[in-house]
Amino acid sequence: MTTARKGQAPGHLERAEFGARFRTAFFDPAFRSEDAAIARLEEIARRASGEGRKTPLTWNAGPGDADPEYEVSIEWVETRARLERAAAVEYPSCAVCGGARVEIVCDARDIRAQLDWVRRFHLRRLEDRVPRGAFEDRTDFTQSFVTNVVACAACGLLFRDPRPTLGVIARAYAHDAYEPARLDALLGGQRTLFRDKVRTLAHWMPPPGGRVLEVGSFVGGFLDVARDAGWDARGVDPGEEVVAYCRARGLHVVRGTVDELDEPAASFDLVAIWNTFDQLPDPGATLRVVARLLRHRGILVLRVPNGLCYRRAIAVLRRLAEPLADVLRGALAWNNLLGFPYLYGYTPPTMERLLTAHGFGTIEVRPDTLVRLSDETTRVWAVAEEALVKAGWRLLWSLPGVRAIENAPWLDVVLRRSES
Ligand SMILES: [Zn+2]
Repeated sequence: MTTARKGQAPGHLERAEFGARFRTAFFDPAFRSEDAAIARLEEIARRASGEGRKTPLTWNAGPGDADPEYEVSIEWVETRARLERAAAVEYPSCAVCGGARVEIVCDARDIRAQLDWVRRFHLRRLEDRVPRGAFEDRTDFTQSFVTNVVACAACGLLFRDPRPTLGVIARAYAHDAYEPARLDALLGGQRTLFRDKVRTLAHWMPPPGGRVLEVGSFVGGFLDVARDAGWDARGVDPGEEVVAYCRARGLHVVRGTVDELDEPAASFDLVAIWNTFDQLPDPGATLRVVARLLRHRGILVLRVPNGLCYRRAIAVLRRLAEPLADVLRGALAWNNLLGFPYLYGYTPPTMERLLTAHGFGTIEVRPDTLVRLSDETTRVWAVAEEALVKAGWRLLWSLPGVRAIENAPWLDVVLRRSES
């Protein structure tokens, strides 16, 4: 067993010798008017030294250490905390091409400034005295940790670097907690979104009775709509609270990740990964499982924030003068792009490359804006501002010469499983 070495303090100096050494720091005659004060300091220093207090600030080691009573130095405690933080982050290589060389799109300081800006932005747009949850809905993102956002130099995939390790990310999701009223509000918003999505994607959806799986089913908005449409809908999500919330409404949801599902191969007609795909630390692993679960020619639907759009907007932002720059920041904020609170920012080419490699062929890529954020807690002028910003963005990508899928803040991607 390792024994802690404790006796490192040198032998005590004689008082006269200690005084002589201490006073060398105050050798300059300019200090002479403060001799009385120096003598008081010397006495404090001598006593501290006599008690062996090489590290005057200590902390009880506490449970978990070999000697819980041992007084460890604050510096040591801080060093250990720094090491633990370092062990909780990793420096990933590109998840699409494996490339290790990156270009910084926004450094950590820039991301911090963007996230602070988003908080101020939404605070000004909320009515007075709204519940705290309304503010947090708009500004607390699971991936709001501050780090560089980089682009793979080879393929252009955006990602966070460094980022928390997979275990830390999984734990964050598992223990996400919401107020019951907030879950109801989130469900209401989701139902509206997915009724619209199911309508626009009706052509690709299976006939009634078809088997549908949602990865990252969250509060169950899509599963509700799918059940209403007559499909046999199942969900999987790591969040304890949201799974219980879905089950209480009679939805079939498994707690965990998709690779833990006990479902036969080729048993689903459609798999949907809405607003979750960009949060998956290992997208390739998930796609392999999805390819196994989908029947031949089954449909996969993904919804992702557009990394290319964010990168272009940041480049424009750096050249814009101030009042206009704030307009663009606002447009990004209404689409949850400012601060880029996602693990990955897929671009249309990186999506294509990743999905083709896993046996999926793209049928359709649809440009979109974020689902409406404003509600009854939003100031009237801000509701109008959001509608205007999103209409403006849709107008921009419909202009001749503008490629919609490169300039839309969000993308819906419909794919067909071909072969793996
Ligand atoms: Zn790459």
